[in-house]
Amino acid sequence: MLRSSLAFLVLAFAFFLCFIMSTGSYVYFQFVQQWPPTTCRLSSKPSNQHRPLQRFTIHGLWPSNYSNPRKPSNCNGSRFKGIVSPKLRSKLKIAWPDVERGNDTKFWEGEWNKHGTCSEQTINQMQYFERSYEMWNFRNITEALKNASIVPSATQTWTYSDIVSAIKTATKTTPSLRCKPDPAQIKSGPKTQLLLEVVLCYEYNALKQIDCNRTAGCWSNVNIKFH
Ligand code: 5GP
Repeated sequence: MLRSSLAFLVLAFAFFLCFIMSTGSYVYFQFVQQWPPTTCRLSSKPSNQHRPLQRFTIHGLWPSNYSNPRKPSNCNGSRFKGIVSPKLRSKLKIAWPDVERGNDTKFWEGEWNKHGTCSEQTINQMQYFERSYEMWNFRNITEALKNASIVPSATQTWTYSDIVSAIKTATKTTPSLRCKPDPAQIKSGPKTQLLLEVVLCYEYNALKQIDCNRTAGCWSNVNIKFH
């Protein structure tokens, strides 16, 4: 009797955990912007190699947890309905293009299904895309870097804190950065790394910006190339 009640409790707890995970429990948002030239350089897909955009564009708005900042994902929520408003659609085409494959709608669909579904209890589909556009429009990362004389250069490099300080001056909060090894240098060891993404963090309601935790997105003692 005792054994079967215990088994029932364990099972109920496991179901409860699965339910929580599938509805998406998160603590804050990561608003991730990518630097298209780096995305294209690293992609095996037919990126817009000829002349990638020279401004930061949206990768996604990701509900996150401090213990595992890339989770939750692929939650039980409504499937992507498309961007119905023509006005929002044209804004997203500028702010949130698919720089890897050129299929914007598919990119938005993938981001909603993987990430947006996990915060649907707080912001619905329309709000998810509207808030992302507003975040992008309000904080111009390309301009913030330019104001600190950090502009694309094939030769110059910067430290992690050079880039973070420039963005912090503009946004008054600490961003985090994501880098990738420079493929041009992989054989001779990572003397430099490429800036891939800038992450701004927002509270649970996606309204107020907060400091990001420094995650292991870049090597600490390796200079960063931005070009
Ligand atoms: P996540 O799937 O968690 O949003 O991000 C990781 C994936 O996003 C990677 O597989 C990367 O290739 C993809 N990704 C990054 N930028 C773009 C883009 O502009 N377009 C598409 N289609 N995928 C992208």
